[in-house]
Amino acid sequence: MTRMTTALIALCAASPALADVNVYSHRQPELVQPLFDAFTKETGIGVNVAYISKGMVERLQAEGARSPADLVMTVDIARLAQVVDAGVTQAVDDPTLNDAIPAEFRDPANHWFGLTSRARIVYASKDRVADGEVTTYEDLADPKWKGRICTRSFTNDYNVALTAAYLLHHGEDATKTWLTGLKANLAQKPEGNDRAQVKSIWSGVCDISLGNTYYMGQMVNDDTQKEWADSVRIVFPTFEEGGTHMNISGAAMTASAPNHDDALKLMEFLASDTAQEIYAETNHEFPIKEGVARSELVESWGTFTPDVLNLTDISAARPAALKLIEEVNFDG
Ligand code: FE
Repeated sequence: MTRMTTALIALCAASPALADVNVYSHRQPELVQPLFDAFTKETGIGVNVAYISKGMVERLQAEGARSPADLVMTVDIARLAQVVDAGVTQAVDDPTLNDAIPAEFRDPANHWFGLTSRARIVYASKDRVADGEVTTYEDLADPKWKGRICTRSFTNDYNVALTAAYLLHHGEDATKTWLTGLKANLAQKPEGNDRAQVKSIWSGVCDISLGNTYYMGQMVNDDTQKEWADSVRIVFPTFEEGGTHMNISGAAMTASAPNHDDALKLMEFLASDTAQEIYAETNHEFPIKEGVARSELVESWGTFTPDVLNLTDISAARPAALKLIEEVNFDG
């Protein structure tokens, strides 16, 4: 080996990040790695991922302009809005992204972009809940469900967004009444995640629960949880005079973005047919791009009408929703 080759190899080894895109991800490695592998295969651009489960905003703020991060990937409009509100992102006005992603699933100011969508639905016991017995979110407060409902904490982002949507549809008084009625129908105090509620249906503690759609995909592919999944069916409730509540996973470009151009290529790739298909198959989420097919499993859950509320409005209504949830002491 010549001395020059050796020097070149040493240089490449010392600074691999310079030619790569750096992602701070709140999403689990197994969900995003297949996407990054496909991107690297197509473009030759590497992707370094730091998985950050807590303190993403604090870390970006502490690193400031020197942050190595180019992109942030996370779930729920709450967390996307939180990153944007902290001032650590930049606007990306890109025709490819604007074409691929429907307007209701991206920030009007171009800071956050939805990449997949998911519905917050009802898991209903196959044995104890009849077809058509639950059709609306409003109905969950009906006393006929007394002692039959399970849910995770209502201060959880997913439930805060659902409550924010309720608030936008019906106003403050009606939302408080709904939360009070729903709480009165719970079989047990809110605890555990969405899948834990389905387990509770399986074990007979309750008959229906609230959960995100993709957890059905995760449960049927898990040896232990498959039985839980088999005990329920998915019902897509709607708001009266509305549709089924939707949320997103998404991405934002950081303010520092040392590899801006390659990071933009990665964002465009994530919104491409190739990546949207990978998302559909591995994450059991709904592709955000029109024309990309849902996975066979997701398709088997049936069709539904998505609610028309804009995620920007839902995000803005979150603090008021959380206040109501705390006022009725929902989790207490
Ligand atoms: Fe989740």
